[in-house]
Formats: sequence, structure tokens, C-alpha cells
Amino acid sequence: MPKEIGHYVTRPGRRLGDAEVTIPVPKDLETAPGIPSRDEDISFYTREYPLESLAVEESAALDHMLDQQKRGSPEAVKHYEAHHKAMEPLDQYVRETGTLEPTAEPTGDDVTDAIRRKAKELGYGEVGFTRFDHRYLYLSQKRVLRYDLPHVICLAYEQDYEKTQATPSVQSEEAHNGSYERMGALTRELVEFVRALGYHVQATGPSVNYSPSIPMFVNAGLGQLGANGQLLSPLFGSWSRLQMIHTDAKVTYDEPVDYGIHALCQVCQVCVKRCPGRALMREKVWYRGVEKNPVSFDRCHPIVSKYLSCGVCMKVCPIGAYGMKAVMDHYVQTGEILGKGTHDLEGYSLPGKDYYGPDELPRFTEEEFYMPRGKSEDWILIEFRNKLMATKDDPTVDKDAMWDEFQEKVESAI
Ligand code: SF4
Ligand code: SF4
Repeated sequence: MPKEIGHYVTRPGRRLGDAEVTIPVPKDLETAPGIPSRDEDISFYTREYPLESLAVEESAALDHMLDQQKRGSPEAVKHYEAHHKAMEPLDQYVRETGTLEPTAEPTGDDVTDAIRRKAKELGYGEVGFTRFDHRYLYLSQKRVLRYDLPHVICLAYEQDYEKTQATPSVQSEEAHNGSYERMGALTRELVEFVRALGYHVQATGPSVNYSPSIPMFVNAGLGQLGANGQLLSPLFGSWSRLQMIHTDAKVTYDEPVDYGIHALCQVCQVCVKRCPGRALMREKVWYRGVEKNPVSFDRCHPIVSKYLSCGVCMKVCPIGAYGMKAVMDHYVQTGEILGKGTHDLEGYSLPGKDYYGPDELPRFTEEEFYMPRGKSEDWILIEFRNKLMATKDDPTVDKDAMWDEFQEKVESAI
């Protein structure tokens, strides 16, 4: 018997002119708009234990990932080199946007619709507006972000569908990184558009970030947090790349939405079951003031580093593969998850290993989960100390050369 509908959510289509999409949310999946949270706990944790970006907090792991990338196939190495090169000028531009002045006088009109329309014309699939929640600002970015730009424009750019199907592979890395490269050009156009409306901007992303973006996207009604730790947006799940533009433009905020995802994930669990690193947790926990399925960094990151950014949890998510409307329609009619248990949805290959259908998972050695944690400079010190201890009684080892190498590494890490 079909499920009883609790409410419907109507969203704009992918592109300008596309028909609206109406998503049924069954009563048994209703929880809270956005994400269940305790505001006072978020304030406490972000004040006492401020967030920091992985690039700073886990720089040793990121160095390890770059090292793994250099050991990839010639095709992969070529791709990563070209991508890093392509991103340099874009990242530089993004960093400088906060210094740019408006190029016209504002009229005083609300410009929400004008910005939304322009962003859609440029090719962003989802656009929303909300207040920037400063509690999420990374510690190291507190002196970099402009505090006089209270609003954020949240922008999601859908990556190539066909190439994403092949996750993980060089093709899916092209879809992922190619989206970043295309978003660079779009950012410039949208920044210029808002400046010409008479307002200031500071762009963040796609690879220069001042804060995590998912809390702002959820508040802007653009999706909900999935059990895979990613934003599930209505049209393309987590098969998208996110970006924000901070501004003082006169805009109207969107509201968080209950799409039913918070509860649906507990029924679905496909990503939890299919994760090659066994990094996703079935049960939800309260963490830093929000209720969510935690992700183990120690289990996920080594796989991400070694297998072309992995992304299996993104590939096997039915919301990304079929869209939220199709998944919810199917659930309402059958009480089941669309595609669950099929090779089409759950199958994947790991480069250099094998193909794994539903109910099959790869095995790894303990060594494959090796990954340094913490900051690069701290890790270099640990490695140096271990080397000193191991060679302390060996007169043939040149200790001066070891010190020189240590100093060089610390300087490079800093
Ligand atoms: S990226 Fe891979 S290893 Fe990490 S959580 Fe997703 S599926 Fe698991
Ligand atoms: S695969 Fe299923 S459980 Fe995982 S994020 Fe997608 S909908 Fe949620």
C-alpha cells in the first residue's frame, strides 16, 4: 500500500525554463527542516573547539595524498598535473575578490531574483541565499574573511553524469576536477555581475575555502546531509561541486527544507554497505550540535588517497543516480529504495583491483590504511625522531645531512 504523504516540496528545474520538480515526502520520513540540531551546542563547540580546514589541520595526510597521486598511472599523473596548473590562476583570483570595489551604484532594490537568474544562466544547477554563519569560520581564516558581507550565495554545479558513473577512475576525476576548472570562469562572471549591481563580494571555493559549505547550503534549502557525509541536493544528490559568494547585496534568504533525507538514509544505507574503506557509520550520533552519521577519517582518507579520490559513496547514492523525486516516488509506492541491490547502482571497480558487485567488498592489507595524521611539520618531527633513534649507534650515518634534510622539510611544510 502506498505511503501516506506528509508534505510536498517544489523546486525549480535544473536549467532556466525547465519544469519545476515536485517531491513527495512521506510521513514516515519527516523529521526536521535542514538537519536536527541544538543551536547552543553548535555555539559551544565552535567557540571552544573552532573548526579548522583539513589543509591546515591534516596537512600531513594531504601531503600523503599528493604523494600517492604522483605514484598513480601515467594518465592519472598527467591529469593531476594539468589540473593543479589550471587551478593556480583561478585560486589567485578567488583570493583577491574581497579587495574588489563595486563598479556601479546600487538601486536599493532586492536583487535576489536577478542573481539567481544570472547564476542559472551561467550553468549552476542550484542557487540559494542565506546568512553566513560565522560560527563555522575556520580558525586560520578569521583574519582573512571580510566581516562586513553578511550574506552568502550558495551555488552547486553538477558534474558530468556519464563520467561520474565510472567512479573511481581518471574519467571521474576529470568530471570532478573539470567542474572546478569550469566553475572558475563562472565565478568571475558572477562576481562581475554582483559588482555591477553595486555590491561587494568575496568568493570562496571551489578550492579556496573559509568554512565548510554544507551547513550554509542546508540553511539555504538546497538539500540535506546524507549518511555519506555529503550534501544531497534534490536534482543531483552529491554529484555536484559547491561554492559560495559572500556579499552585502540586498537579498532575501531561503529557508531550510525537510526533504525526508535525514530519515531516508537510515532506510537506504547503500553507501554505508558499499564503502570500500568501511568508513561510514550506520547509526547517527550527536556531534558538535548536529545529529548525523559520522565518517571515519582514518578509514576513508587512505582509500581516497590511493584510489583516485574514491567517491564510491557518491556513485552508489540513488539520490545522485536517479534524482530525489524518482527515489521518493518509488519509496512512496513500494516502501523500497530505488536501485538498491542492483549492479547498476551498487557495482564499482577499484583501479588496480577488481569489480565489486552488490554484497562484495574489496579487502586491503593493514599497510594500505597507513596515513600520517596531523600537521606536516609535526609529522616530520616524529619521522626525524624515529630515524635518529634507529640510527643512533650507527657511525656510518651522516647526522649533519639528516639535520639538513629535516630543516629543509620543515621549511617546505611551513
Ligand atoms: S570516499 Fe570511499 S572510502 Fe571514503 S567514505 Fe566514501 S566510499 Fe568510503
Ligand atoms: S546512499 Fe542512501 S544512505 Fe547513503 S547518502 Fe545516499 S540516500 Fe543516504
